[in-house]
Amino acid sequence: MERLKGKVAAVTGGSVGIGAATVTRMAEQGAAVAILDCKDQEGQELAQSLTERGLIAAYWHCDVSNEKQVSEALDKVVETYGSLTVLVNNAGISGTNKPTHELTEEEWDRVQNVNVKGVFFCTKHAIPLMKKAGAGSIINLSSIYGLVGAPDTPSYHASKGAVRLMSKTDAMLYATENIRVNSVHPGFIWTPMVEGHLKTTGQDLEAAKQATAELHPVGHMGEPDDIAWGIVYLASDESKFVTGSELVIDGGYTAR
Ligand code: NAP
Repeated sequence: MERLKGKVAAVTGGSVGIGAATVTRMAEQGAAVAILDCKDQEGQELAQSLTERGLIAAYWHCDVSNEKQVSEALDKVVETYGSLTVLVNNAGISGTNKPTHELTEEEWDRVQNVNVKGVFFCTKHAIPLMKKAGAGSIINLSSIYGLVGAPDTPSYHASKGAVRLMSKTDAMLYATENIRVNSVHPGFIWTPMVEGHLKTTGQDLEAAKQATAELHPVGHMGEPDDIAWGIVYLASDESKFVTGSELVIDGGYTAR
């Protein structure tokens, strides 16, 4: 199956977790995939394992909170593959797990700089390239916590709410230019981010995993591929009438 044949995709935070699954499924579906991340070794190894399978992928170091690095990396992608038609704004951090009244400005800003400003910088520099290509699909990773609240990590939840509405604004701004923008809202997916987050709760890790699984009506957490397949759909022409929408993939978490 080559649902993404001819597409050129950049996936931020593509070295591990949801990003790595997305990179893999997109490459398997025929896209040329650029992995942009700060985890250089994991990203390079992933690109190498895909190219050894005859798929098209390469790694570039890129901190999404640094505008110069973003614009240079996206230019390199176009130089290498000829265009840019898909951007997955996936890089994100969960930040400090403290109640609002204990958070410092620095802790707040660190999360906004990656999760919100990073999406802004990548979108800002991808749009002219997509205009040149005559088509584009931008997929922004929000969260269930861009839809509902939770009594922890205030800066993270604020950032994911922002990403949800940035997606709708950009969907409207660029709809007539054949550039679609959608948000994806995962429930808990077992990745390095979730493992790191659960370790901050101070609970035994296995007990915390079980409690997190039980938050989902299906009774378990998701896996990175559950999200990657949704992203493949939004990147493909199968979703050509879909823009400004919210794809919720959460095992029923927000169905209550
Ligand atoms: P992850 O396992 O932590 O992977 C994220 C990747 O992004 C890491 O390689 C990370 O590198 C990289 N990254 C962080 N800051 C970056 C920056 N400034 N520039 C470039 N790359 C950067 O995360 P994940 O769980 O796969 O989550 C991926 C996305 O889905 C995030 O936006 C997250 O908020 C969202 N999401 C995840 C879940 C979930 O349950 N996992 C649920 C809802 C939404 P370092 O580790 O070196 O920083």
